[in-house]
Amino acid sequence: MQTLTIDSTLEKRLHQVSQLIGNTPLVALDRVYKNPKVQILAKLEWQQLGGSVKARPAFNIIKQAILHGQLDQNRVLLDASSGNTGIAYGAVGAALGIQVALCLPENASKERKMILRAHGVDIVYTPATELTDGAQIKAKELHAQNPDLYFYADQYANPHNWQAHYAHTAPEIIEQTQGEITHFVAGLGTSGTFMGTSRRLKEYNPGIEIVSLQPDSPMHGLEGWKHMETAIVPQFYDDSLADKNLEVSTFDAYELIKEVAQKEGLLISPSAAANLAGAIALADTIEEGTIVTMFPDSADKYSEVLKQVFN
Ligand code: PMP
Repeated sequence: MQTLTIDSTLEKRLHQVSQLIGNTPLVALDRVYKNPKVQILAKLEWQQLGGSVKARPAFNIIKQAILHGQLDQNRVLLDASSGNTGIAYGAVGAALGIQVALCLPENASKERKMILRAHGVDIVYTPATELTDGAQIKAKELHAQNPDLYFYADQYANPHNWQAHYAHTAPEIIEQTQGEITHFVAGLGTSGTFMGTSRRLKEYNPGIEIVSLQPDSPMHGLEGWKHMETAIVPQFYDDSLADKNLEVSTFDAYELIKEVAQKEGLLISPSAAANLAGAIALADTIEEGTIVTMFPDSADKYSEVLKQVFN
């Protein structure tokens, strides 16, 4: 695809927004997991525009679409999301003057709905029972009805999703661990984080072990693995990348939210806690190593879960 020359104001804006994406801190969780030979490190992905790991793919998808002439201020970015990608699109879109429309399962948390509205996102609700699959089907339908108005971003199939992690997340991890990473643990939503980061890490050192996670239940706020329960598997997902797949207990994850809040000073989301539960289960099986996992977002948007954990 050809890259266009774009308007210099928009170019400046893209540069400004790019400074708010990525370069997230990597912290050692050695008060929660005490073992001098096995370190667990977590990447605090909420420290970006929009407050989640989805800042990276959302920005890259929007930037590439603009550079390739598929999106501008006269078109509307359309996608399906369970929330975080939508929020990231909303924040980036607002900063660039691009309208965003989002198909969202109606049971998304009230905080997510409120933040989306704050950024001026048009929300089209889809039935809760159909999870994100229903939202994807609706987005495809809307796009087919009005292809001139909508740029359909399709985060589940758009390679600019995983490529954001390939280009940035993995190199950051390599640099922050000074190449010492031995294991990478991640949950799967669109699988963009897992695919992009793991691919690059394997290229850097094929000895790095890659572990994917899924929850024992997709219905209790553990975000990011819904496609495992449904028919729509993201187009770019390749299960051969994982050396190991672990199942995480929702109960263990919830207990960890409490522990991390009290021992590390971090208030993490259910999916961050699930990643940590996976990292701990893995840590218990190895003699030594440096395990890196992702904290995709903080607990900010999960008041229902917090009420349950801290009551
Ligand atoms: N955790 C949270 C909280 C998320 O919102 C997502 C994306 N839906 C993920 C994990 C998974 O990320 P990915 O889509 O890159 O697999």
